[in-house]
Order: sequence, then C-alpha cells, then structure tokens
Amino acid sequence: MNVTPKIEIRDLLTADLHLHTVYCDGRNTPEEMVVSAIDKGFACIGFSGHSYVEFDPGCGMDANALEAYRKEIQTLKETYKDRIRIFCGIELDSYSDMPEGEFDYVIGSVHYLDGTPRPAAVDDTPEELMEAVQREYGNDYYLAAEHYYAAVSDIVSKTGCDIIGHFDLIAKFNEKYRLFDEQHPRYKKAWTEALDRLLPQGKIFEINTGAVSRGWRSTPYPAPEMIDYIRQRGGRFLLSSDSHGCETIGYGFREAAENAGLF
Ligand SMILES: [Zn+2]
Ligand SMILES: [Zn+2]
Repeated sequence: MNVTPKIEIRDLLTADLHLHTVYCDGRNTPEEMVVSAIDKGFACIGFSGHSYVEFDPGCGMDANALEAYRKEIQTLKETYKDRIRIFCGIELDSYSDMPEGEFDYVIGSVHYLDGTPRPAAVDDTPEELMEAVQREYGNDYYLAAEHYYAAVSDIVSKTGCDIIGHFDLIAKFNEKYRLFDEQHPRYKKAWTEALDRLLPQGKIFEINTGAVSRGWRSTPYPAPEMIDYIRQRGGRFLLSSDSHGCETIGYGFREAAENAGLF
C-alpha cells in the first residue's frame, strides 16, 4: 500500500483524508460527508474509520461494521465519481491488529497509554488523562510522554501505515502548558527521538486540525516546532480535519498550511 501514487494530492487544501462516520464514532453517514465535501469544493476525501480496539469497543469498527463500511464507500466511489474522488482508509490504532482485506491507505495512530486495568485514552477527557498519569506514572507527565512517544516511534513498524496520525496527541489537553511544559528537555527529547526514528521511513505526517475545531488547542497537531523539525528534515505533510461530522471537513486548512509554511 502506498498512498502517494494512488492519491496524487496536487492540492492539499481540497483533500481531507481523515474523516469519521457513524460506522465508528462519527455523527454523519458517509454519504452525508461526501455531499458536504462536494459542497465545500473538495476534490478528494478519504474515510478513516477507527479500527476495533478490544478494550474500547464503542469507538471502533468490528468485523460486521467494517464490511458494511467498505461496501458503502465502494458504492459512493461509483455514485460520485464524476464529482469527487473518494478513498477508503482506516485509522489503525497501535493496539489493533490490521483487519483482513485491502484499504486505500492507513493512518497509524497512538490513542492510549499503557495501564491497568486497561490502557487509558490520552484524548478522551482531561480527567481520564490526568487520572492515568497519576496512577500509572506517579503524576510524571514526562515519563508518560516518554512512553507515548516510544509507542509513536513504533507506529510505522506496528501498523504499516502510510500516514502518521496526530503526532502529539498526548498534548491535546495541554493548551497554555496547563498540564506540563512542552519546552522541558525530557519532553523535547522524547518527541525528537520519535521523529528521528520515523523520518527516515518516509511516511506522511498529517497536520491535523481536529483539536482546533473542537476548541482544545490553538494550533494543529503537531506543535509548530515539531512541524519545523519535520520540514527541515524533508518530511512530507498533508492536511486533515479528523472530522467526526460534516461541519468540520477541511477545518482551518488554509491557516494551518500558511502557518506550516507549506505554500
Ligand atoms: Zn485518532
Ligand atoms: Zn481520527
């Protein structure tokens, strides 16, 4: 699988490959998303339903949902082929196994921190994250970040992904550094080591505006200094909205692209 030749993203601003639907934890049907993307002038969209995670079954697609998802997107590709290009992908969590069958592309994402009785989501609520860091890491956010970025650094080998999802998701609830200092040497070391491992693998990093549209962050994932680090070392990007509903498709793309120096 290789997303680049298949998708040929000539215009990053009119391509959004990170979309969720009612098949996982989104609010709209795939067709509603397609119609909305056409209305917004998109040339290309991709669905990236969440993979099934055993300890968090509510968020992902089980085998039945996956089959229906694939079928419906295949139908939509045909129905709308003269108006928009549609791709069928998956957002594969580091805790999931790759499901049977082909996808047009894979977004590899780390959503959970190791823990007992089960891993904790880093992006669900601030309370869940704070409790997990307290319980599992003695309230040491840098230790939690070291574990998180170690998992991120493995994401390509673990998932075989084409696109690296929301690189610094662990900082979702850290606007104004309210939980930890992102300039701390241990934090910087954790993310630079992950990037040093990922960059030679040549995958695409998404600039993901999902937390901006939901009001959690003022800048997309990854943080500006991470984007600079990736860009200076020849890394590639695409823009994504991580939309769970029609209204945020393509959210903040122009500003994100300008701030990232993509144009
Ligand atoms: Zn995600
Ligand atoms: Zn997502």
